Amino acid sequence: MIEALNKPITYVKGVGPKRAEVYEKLGISDAFDLLCHFPRDYVDYSVQVPIAQAPTDEPCCVKARVVKKLAPAFIRKGLTVYKAVLTDGSDDLTLIIYNAEYQFRSLCDGREYILFGKLSGNAVRREISSPLILPADSPDLIQPVYRLTEGLSQNMIRQNIHSVLDSIGGTIYEPLPKEIMQRYSLCSLDYALENIHFPRDSHALAVAKRRLVFDELLTLRLGMTLLRLKGLKATSCRMKEYDISDYYSSLPFELTGCQRRAIEDCCADMCRDYPMNRLIQGDVGSGKTAVAAGAACFAAGNGYQTALMAPTEILAHQHFETLSGFLEPLGIKVALLTGSLSAKKKSALKEQIKNGEYNVVVGTHALVQQSTEFQHLGLVITDEQHRFGVGQRDTLAAKGNNPHKLVMSATPIPRTLAMMIYGDLDLSVLDELPKGRQGIETYAVTGKLRQRAFGFIRGQLDQGRQGYIVCPMIEENDMELQSVREYSERLQADDFRDYRVGLLHGRLSPADKDKVMREFKDHELDLLVSTTVVEVGVDVPNAVIMLVENADRFGLSQLHQLRGRVGRGKYKSYCILVTDNVTEESVKRLKILSSTSDGFKVSEEDLKLRGPGDFFGSRQHGLPPLRIADMSSDTELLRLAQTAADGITAVDPELNRPEHKGLRELAQRLFKEDRQEK
Ligand code: ADP
Ligand code: MG
Repeated sequence: MIEALNKPITYVKGVGPKRAEVYEKLGISDAFDLLCHFPRDYVDYSVQVPIAQAPTDEPCCVKARVVKKLAPAFIRKGLTVYKAVLTDGSDDLTLIIYNAEYQFRSLCDGREYILFGKLSGNAVRREISSPLILPADSPDLIQPVYRLTEGLSQNMIRQNIHSVLDSIGGTIYEPLPKEIMQRYSLCSLDYALENIHFPRDSHALAVAKRRLVFDELLTLRLGMTLLRLKGLKATSCRMKEYDISDYYSSLPFELTGCQRRAIEDCCADMCRDYPMNRLIQGDVGSGKTAVAAGAACFAAGNGYQTALMAPTEILAHQHFETLSGFLEPLGIKVALLTGSLSAKKKSALKEQIKNGEYNVVVGTHALVQQSTEFQHLGLVITDEQHRFGVGQRDTLAAKGNNPHKLVMSATPIPRTLAMMIYGDLDLSVLDELPKGRQGIETYAVTGKLRQRAFGFIRGQLDQGRQGYIVCPMIEENDMELQSVREYSERLQADDFRDYRVGLLHGRLSPADKDKVMREFKDHELDLLVSTTVVEVGVDVPNAVIMLVENADRFGLSQLHQLRGRVGRGKYKSYCILVTDNVTEESVKRLKILSSTSDGFKVSEEDLKLRGPGDFFGSRQHGLPPLRIADMSSDTELLRLAQTAADGITAVDPELNRPEHKGLRELAQRLFKEDRQEK
């Protein structure tokens, strides 16, 4: 990168220490940052309307000649009103400016200007207050609008950026290799920076934006690769080939092809010099636990212990049951470490873990991480609901012997995005559901049909099946809890008086949650009324029906996760979404769920409807903030940038070649900034 861009922002002409402080608030500390402060919007002065036809409810541009400047009116101290009359032939317009004497004085009688703002007044007398004003002969008819902070104006930023661009005048370095620019038809960085700030026309702007979005996504991908290489420290848990066909044959079902492949991927990874760093991504019900168990079996065969961390106690319990069911018959010992154990039992258990008496330890993240010592920890499995920050997953790995890592995630993300977001991990996708699944029929209904739905549920319970009723709790406060409790009592007393109804909510103690869940699992309950705690991975194959109250309060992906609690066994399953919100938007959303059972499709549609805002908000995925790219709409460029990045890393993974120096700097910059913000 050229020197001048790395220098503190005070080196920019017109930026003193005071303004530098203001810039600091926007995260801008050098000239390069300033150039990367891209406009949040543009005003296009080239699209104008005649004054007589200008709307009064939204801003627009009019082009008019100054006819007469009126004498200023001093209203009081600190308030002077300047007025001028302008015309464009179709009508007159009174321009009103408050206090900005300098701006007013710069207007010349008889000269034409383009004004951008909202008109007011009536047909007889049209006015415009404090508009943006541009001389009509200005060469730059598209003007940037920047994100501001106190002490900064649009003009100041424009001027400062102008002087940076001037000072480097077409000599900015070019971080992209020529060949890539040609292959992907990208303009030069010079041109892009110039035109993103001061676009010549809308075409130039589009070309500039395309280049900068490409750069950002490319840089992100390269940065993830660098990050991953940095984490590469030889493992002391290198394993050897070990036959786990006993595991395969002892399972009560046949693994799907992709489950088998995922297990084989893991085994191969663990036989290498470097620790495995793999993500198993699969929709709800795709059978991730069986993959985890396969990997644990392989590790145990090699004499290594496995730790499996779950996000909640309920899930830890469930994983424990599944894993011990799969593994104990093979002589692999599984321990469950939970908060509800007595202190004495806990310390006895920890002692046994330390002595290597257990091969597999299941527990919540906190428990397994804190103070648990292992004899030969070789594999760490994390069941993750959401993405942690890049590089934050490694606390356990830091425990000395650099074990292998496997992450399970049910967040369905379109594949290209997953590659970006999880770019520091290898990926195994479970995109095939186990055989014999009957699918889930999903219906959206209004409250008027609730009684009928209850009748339908009773019919299912009569056949020996079980069901869930889910009530959203937004704030998990006492009032909400009270109403969920009452609702459940009403069901027990009334519609479901002949059935056993249980209640599960987030305020129960872990032990009580566990008790309710166990009763439901053991079919001592027929119907479970629950808040969203049931969302996370609970597995009761005999449960075939779920009714969700106030379904419109949930995000689509969340509803998809929820309904994944049914349809997990051999029975046909149903999901009834109840909502009295029948706005077009709400109906459209819920229809998506009735029309597809594919979590990837659901998440794509959800994304389209909700917009990128929160869904791919960078924070959520622990990625550095993006300045210009939008991972949800720039999908084509995302694909191109990924291909380009992977091409580069295939020949020069650490970006050591001279022609990749610029990219390396950019990538390091991107991830450095991330750290500062945390
Ligand atoms: P998830 O991927 O949602 O965590 P689980 O691992 O909990 O899914 O598996 C869901 C259910 O499917 C469990 O009851 C599990 O025993 C069962 N299962 C897993 N793999 C298969 C398979 N290949 N065939 C039949 N059932 C399977
Ligand atoms: Mg699961």
